Amino acid sequence: MWGYVYLVLVQDDELGEMRVLIDTGSGFGASDRHLQAGLEQLPVSPDSLTHILITHGHIDHFGGLSNLRPLTSARLGVHELDQRVLTHYEERLVFVTHRLDGFLAEAGVRIERRAKIIEMYRLTKSLFHSVKVDFTYEAAGMRVGPFHLLHVPGHCAGHVVIRLHDILFSGDHVLDHTSPHQAPEQLTLSTGLEHYLASLEALRLWTSPSTGVPVRLTLGGHDNPITDLAVRIGEIRDLHHLRLEKVLSFLSEPNTVAGVSQGLFGQVHGYNVLLALEEAGAHVEYLYQRGHLGIDNLQEVEASSLPIPIRYRRLS
Ligand SMILES: [Zn+2]
Ligand SMILES: [Zn+2]
Repeated sequence: MWGYVYLVLVQDDELGEMRVLIDTGSGFGASDRHLQAGLEQLPVSPDSLTHILITHGHIDHFGGLSNLRPLTSARLGVHELDQRVLTHYEERLVFVTHRLDGFLAEAGVRIERRAKIIEMYRLTKSLFHSVKVDFTYEAAGMRVGPFHLLHVPGHCAGHVVIRLHDILFSGDHVLDHTSPHQAPEQLTLSTGLEHYLASLEALRLWTSPSTGVPVRLTLGGHDNPITDLAVRIGEIRDLHHLRLEKVLSFLSEPNTVAGVSQGLFGQVHGYNVLLALEEAGAHVEYLYQRGHLGIDNLQEVEASSLPIPIRYRRLS
């Protein structure tokens, strides 16, 4: 629930003076206070903001809207595929919680533990209330004045990166230190490792000197600034390929997603339990879809009308 927001002041030929806030923080703990203190320091008042651009529909990037939205008439933008997260938040929370429970059951998480994980998931997300969105990025031609946007689904369905001249605002698509979190697409369409790896390649081409516009500095939603984006993209891609190989080797013996998670990350606690299960689930899903895994207990699955733990095994 700790992250960066960016305020960009720019003079545009068509739109005049723009005061653009990229993301809003989580709205948790001291987040709103920190945001307000940052704006005061400049000083820029919330009501003088012209645009708020959300990089993606995760609460640590838009949760601050609950308090900020009433203070400003800035035009709020988000990608089409994440619009619903902001405008129908309560509905989505019910829907995703439902799917998450099914995923956890199939992953082999015991029922008492599932209840705890679901409770924790809801708790971190129950404070936000839906807000009205003013425009969506594709409808705006993936441009807002001098800002150019690229849709990079994977970490989140409607994730965009935003380029202004040779500066890139990367949200959580590329981070300096952390490998951006992956969850299986069975939870939310247009997420999952397949989309994510394709979007990493799309960003590489978009910012390569030969096929796109190079960037000098990449500013993420977390971690430090990145000065060599191509190198960082390569590192993240390699990490996932290594992790896929690890998952394949674990599954020489049949196991569940929970077993794979334990193998990859060992004993984890708190919210990390869910993050580890989703990360393992995303890698298993990728390998299964590509025909590298089979289901070891297919008869049990067939006989049960409820979701039951699925044991995967390596085929190739
Ligand atoms: Zn995120
Ligand atoms: Zn984030």
